[in-house]
Amino acid sequence: MRSDRYSRQSIFAGLGAEGQSKLSRARVAVIGLGALGTVIANNLCRAGIGFLRLVDRDYVEISNLQRQMLFTEEDAKEELPKAVAAGRHLAAVNSETVVEPLVADVNSGSVMALLSDVDLVLDGTDNFETRYLINEACHKLSLPWIYGGALAAEGGTMNILPEGPCFRCLSPEVPAPGSYQTCGTAGVLNMITGAVASLESAEAVKILTGSPAVSRAYFSLDIWRNTARYVEIARDPDCPVCARGEYEFLFRRQGSYSAALCGREAVQIAPPAGTKVDLPRLAEGLRQIGAVRLSPYMLSFTGGVAFNLFPDGRAIIKNARDEAAALSVYAEYIGL
Ligand SMILES: [Zn+2]
Repeated sequence: MRSDRYSRQSIFAGLGAEGQSKLSRARVAVIGLGALGTVIANNLCRAGIGFLRLVDRDYVEISNLQRQMLFTEEDAKEELPKAVAAGRHLAAVNSETVVEPLVADVNSGSVMALLSDVDLVLDGTDNFETRYLINEACHKLSLPWIYGGALAAEGGTMNILPEGPCFRCLSPEVPAPGSYQTCGTAGVLNMITGAVASLESAEAVKILTGSPAVSRAYFSLDIWRNTARYVEIARDPDCPVCARGEYEFLFRRQGSYSAALCGREAVQIAPPAGTKVDLPRLAEGLRQIGAVRLSPYMLSFTGGVAFNLFPDGRAIIKNARDEAAALSVYAEYIGL
């Protein structure tokens, strides 16, 4: 018996049965499962995308629930990794979509492997550095990706197609970390993240089905001031990425590094790629000095300090004053 799961969508003239069939064969990566990524993943899973890779490095907290639409209080209580929680909820929504949740950091050591076997990449991240990295990886792979960003009550999106203009043409000056406002300092309404994520999802469906309606402009809107604009972005003939093929972020050496996480007093410490940690063994030692909770995905420690540690050696140090303080917690308690 034929399922009528997609009947209200495939009857839409812009899509049709042929478009629906293309979606069922499409492979998509969603990078970041926050306010944008959860809505994108939910939209695309329900729309019948064949394969969804969901990548996120973080775990669910209660302050996420206002805007990160796939998560529940139970997920926050368990501190489930966002990728795992999203994968679980979506598996219950549409068993016809193959969902691959990955608890991972997207960096120069991991990005090519994460993107090399998909048709399209959607940006659900919250920082410029990762976007420049995705931009370079996608240019190298000749892959389309869709940029999206939102803050306070405004947001914008743009399709970055292999022929350009690219994200570096849109945003040529790389802002220094900490020099721009984040959702932690300016706040963000879930109505704008939902709107931008839905615009990204619509463009994804158009790109994947080869629609002539694919947007060629940067589209931004402000739902508080009631303004919207389309801006044509010119390709920079001297763009380091799409004109000269220089991949500054992609070829950056990946040693250990730390990064303050958007909007909260937490710092991620990541050891070099390929690190593996025996969490149960480390848990034994840590139980002598504090409370430990161990799951297949994560070790949570609360003692004089608090952190969550993943099997790849990444740790998110909670209540860290700054990166130096977080590094000393890492050295003292994890010590890789
Ligand atoms: Zn460019």
